[in-house]
Amino acid sequence: MNTRDKLQALAQAAQFDLSCACGGSQKRSLGDDGLWIYPAALPNGQTMPVLKVLQSSGCERNCTYCVERNGGRGPRICFSPDDLAREFMKMVRARLVGGLFLSSAIMGSPTATMDRMLATVERVRFRHRFFGYIHLKIIPGAQEAQIERAMELANRVSVNLEAPNEERLAAIAPGKSFHDQLKGTMRFIGDNLGREGLRCKSQTTQFVVGAAGEQDKETISTLWESYEEANLARGYFSAFQPVSGTPLEGAAPIPAMREHRLYQVDFLFRKYEFEIDDIIFDEEENLSLAEDPKTIWAGRHPEVFPMEINDVERRELLRVPGLGPIAADRILERRRISRICELDVLKRITPRWRTAAPYMLFDGRLKERNMAQLALF
Ligand code: SF4
Repeated sequence: MNTRDKLQALAQAAQFDLSCACGGSQKRSLGDDGLWIYPAALPNGQTMPVLKVLQSSGCERNCTYCVERNGGRGPRICFSPDDLAREFMKMVRARLVGGLFLSSAIMGSPTATMDRMLATVERVRFRHRFFGYIHLKIIPGAQEAQIERAMELANRVSVNLEAPNEERLAAIAPGKSFHDQLKGTMRFIGDNLGREGLRCKSQTTQFVVGAAGEQDKETISTLWESYEEANLARGYFSAFQPVSGTPLEGAAPIPAMREHRLYQVDFLFRKYEFEIDDIIFDEEENLSLAEDPKTIWAGRHPEVFPMEINDVERRELLRVPGLGPIAADRILERRRISRICELDVLKRITPRWRTAAPYMLFDGRLKERNMAQLALF
């Protein structure tokens, strides 16, 4: 197999890992030449087309949901660091991509696999003098020295938790140790983020949603802990879809809305100052599929609404359904000019004014005319 065919096969095999996509399978894109190129959300908030590729396919592990398990379904392919670095740089020079996301199935051992990945990134950085964005997956079982080297070389690293706890992980990924290899590694990375001499500025993680029969509450608790303990930048969620030829091929697929609700909670933690106790679950300890978690919180807190748009702080504005961080900042800015007495001002601030208006007072008044018009209460 020539290197171009290898690149195509290993880039397509990487599509199942979402940790550098912008949030969900709908954001994936197949490049003109059959390669998986992703619009990755960078730590600075910008997006960039990133080549996502595996160093090798055909894994020696046995995760029940994974197409690469037990050697995979096709021929096992392994890129040499020299070849992969060269193929990536061809794409950079052709301006097809601006960054690299490198992951791998385990071939040989976790240490040997991680060494190959590090060698690839070293060639990209030092031989080809590429100083752009690189996201490097940390293989479960990698050594601390390898993790430190990864943090010297990559802008972002990630450890896929896949499941929320030891018991759930054991059901779908035998051989992986939740506490030592995954959470322990995340804590180690979190402790080292910001250390002088390390290029890496952030870490992320990913969950396979629903594969282990877990409740959303378990996933969200572990996500919250990861923010608290490991300086997590963000979580990614991939709704489980059965793959033929795996032990879970007959299991029911998880609806995309469940993945979406988890992303909403992740946003509430990161951008809306919500905390774990603010998240409301149904009787089965799952998020509602029918309504978003912020609207549910508002419905359970009638004592907070309607709130005076002119007096409340940013944190309180962020609790209003329909208002995000940008709208909240615009309201604060507008208040420096004068008090907000008319709904028209809110209309100019956010396209979601219809959602937000019923939760607000405008200089002491509920806009009854508009309330009747909206018929939302
Ligand atoms: S470790 Fe598990 S999830 Fe990762 S490639 Fe191997 S079988 Fe798949």
